[in-house]
Amino acid sequence: MTDFKLTEAPKIVEPTIYELSSPGRTGVTYPDPDVPRAKLPDELLRKVIPLPELSEVDVIRHFVKLSTFNYSVDSGFYPLGSCTMKYNPKINEDTARLPGFANLHPLQPIETTQGALMLMYQLQEWLKEISGFDAITLQPAAGAHGEFVGVLVMRAYHRDRNDNKRTKMLIPDSAHGTNPATSAMSGLKVVQIPSDERGNVDLEALRAEADDTLVGMMLTNPNTLGLFDENVEEVCRIVHEAGGLMYGDGANMNALLGIAKMADLGFDVMHYNLHKTFSTPHGGGGPGSGPVVVTAELAQFLPAPIVAVVEEEADGLPPLYGLVDPSKTVGRVKAFNGHFGMFVRAFTYIAMHGPDGLRDISEYAVLNANYLLTRLRDAYHVPYDRICMHEFVAEGRWKDAPDIHALDVAKRLMDYGFHPPTNYFPLIVHEALMIEPTETENKGTLDAFVDAMLKIADEAHTSPNLLHEAPTRTPFGRLDEVKAAKELILCCWLPEDYGNQ
Ligand SMILES: *Cc1c(COP(=O)(O)O)cnc(C)c1O
Repeated sequence: MTDFKLTEAPKIVEPTIYELSSPGRTGVTYPDPDVPRAKLPDELLRKVIPLPELSEVDVIRHFVKLSTFNYSVDSGFYPLGSCTMKYNPKINEDTARLPGFANLHPLQPIETTQGALMLMYQLQEWLKEISGFDAITLQPAAGAHGEFVGVLVMRAYHRDRNDNKRTKMLIPDSAHGTNPATSAMSGLKVVQIPSDERGNVDLEALRAEADDTLVGMMLTNPNTLGLFDENVEEVCRIVHEAGGLMYGDGANMNALLGIAKMADLGFDVMHYNLHKTFSTPHGGGGPGSGPVVVTAELAQFLPAPIVAVVEEEADGLPPLYGLVDPSKTVGRVKAFNGHFGMFVRAFTYIAMHGPDGLRDISEYAVLNANYLLTRLRDAYHVPYDRICMHEFVAEGRWKDAPDIHALDVAKRLMDYGFHPPTNYFPLIVHEALMIEPTETENKGTLDAFVDAMLKIADEAHTSPNLLHEAPTRTPFGRLDEVKAAKELILCCWLPEDYGNQ
C-alpha cells in the first residue's frame, strides 16, 4: 500500500474582497465626461455605495485564489455515483463557442438557422438510434425535467384513450429521488416496490400492484445499485399486461452505449442526461439537458416544437429543416428549443466517438467500476455483491468500528485528495457509498483511489479520530451541511448602517 505523505493543511485566512478594500484604490480611470453634468435629484442618490475599492490585480488574485479552493473533474478523480462525473472534452467547448452557433438568436428566421437545426436534427437521430426509440424532444433542461415531460406524455396517452382511472405510478425502492418527486408533482399516486435480495425489482410485489389503475412504472436500469435488473423484460411485460407504460430513467446510460437499447428491453419512454452520459458539464447549477425519447405510439404527445425535415432534399438543394408541433402535444416545456449549447457539446462528443467509440465508453466504464469493486469488496461490505455495471454501492460501516459512518469515510477521502463518492444514496443500503469511476480514469488513478480507501478502512479500526476529524487538509474543515443549506450567508460583509443611507 502506498504510504501517503499528506501535505500540511494550508492556512486559509482568505480575507473577503471587502476586507481587501483600500479607500481610493481603483481598477479603472474614467475619461472626463464630454457631456454636461446633469443635476440629479438628491433623494435618489446614496451618500455611500458599499462597493469595495481595489485595483484590477487585487481582484484577479482574489478570485483566482478562491477558484483554487474548488474541486472539479479537471483537477482530480470524482467518483460521485449516479452523477457520472466524466471528463468534459475541451473540444466540446470550442465547438459550442463557434460564432455561427454562439451568436444565433432563437427568433431568427429558420432560413438563417439551418446549421443549428441540422445539428439538432442529427442529434435527435443519434439519440433515437442509441436507445432504439422512434421519436424525441430535446427541450427538457435536466434529467428531472425530462422525467416530468415523460410522465406528462404517459398521462396524456391514457387520457387520450379515455382511460381516466389510471393514477398510480410504481417506483422501486432503489429509485433516484426525482422519480417519486416527478410522479407526485404530476398528480399521481406513488407506490413503492421493494427490491429482492439480488437487487432486482421484486416480481411478486410488482404483480400485486399491477392493476388497471396503473399509469406505469419508472425504472432505472442499471439501477442505482449499479446493477442490471435481470428480470427487466419480465417487469416490462407485467406492467404492459396491466395496461401501464414503462418509463426508463436513462440518466445513467454509461453502461449501455452500443450494447443494449432501452426500447428493445421493453421501455416506452426514457430521458437522457446529456450532462452525464454525453459529457456536457454539470454541477454548480449550470444548464443541463434531458432529452426524452418515446415509442412511435407516444410521439404525438411530445412537447412542441420538434426539429424536422420540412422539405426533402431535391434538385441538388439540401433539405430544409424546420420546427413542427406533434398533433396532441403536451405543450411547450422550455423557452425556445432547450439548451442549444449543450446540444452542440453532446453532438461533438458523439461525433468524435462514433458507434464503436461509444461502445468503448461503456465497456471501459463497466470495467473500471468492476475493477474498483473487486479490489474493495474485502475491506468494505458490498450488500448486493455481483458483477456491476458503471457503478456499485458499498457500505461505510463496520461492526467492529461502530462509531464510523459513511460520512466519515467520505470526509477522510478529501484528506487524500479525492472527491468523495455519493453517500447515503440509494436509501436501501445503510451508510451507502456509491462509487462511479467512469471510463475517464486510468489504472494508476484507480489504484491510488483504492490505496486511499484501504488505508481509510484500516484507520477506521486503528485511529478512528482521523476519520471523525476529517477533513483537515482542505481549505475548510468539516462543515455543518444542514446549516449551510438552511442558513445561506451569501454576503459576508456590508457596512452596519447599510440600508439607512
Ligand atoms: C441525475 C439523475 C437524475 C436527475 O437528473 P438531473 O439532471 O439532476 O435533474 C434522475 N435519475 C437518475 C438515476 C440520476 O442519476
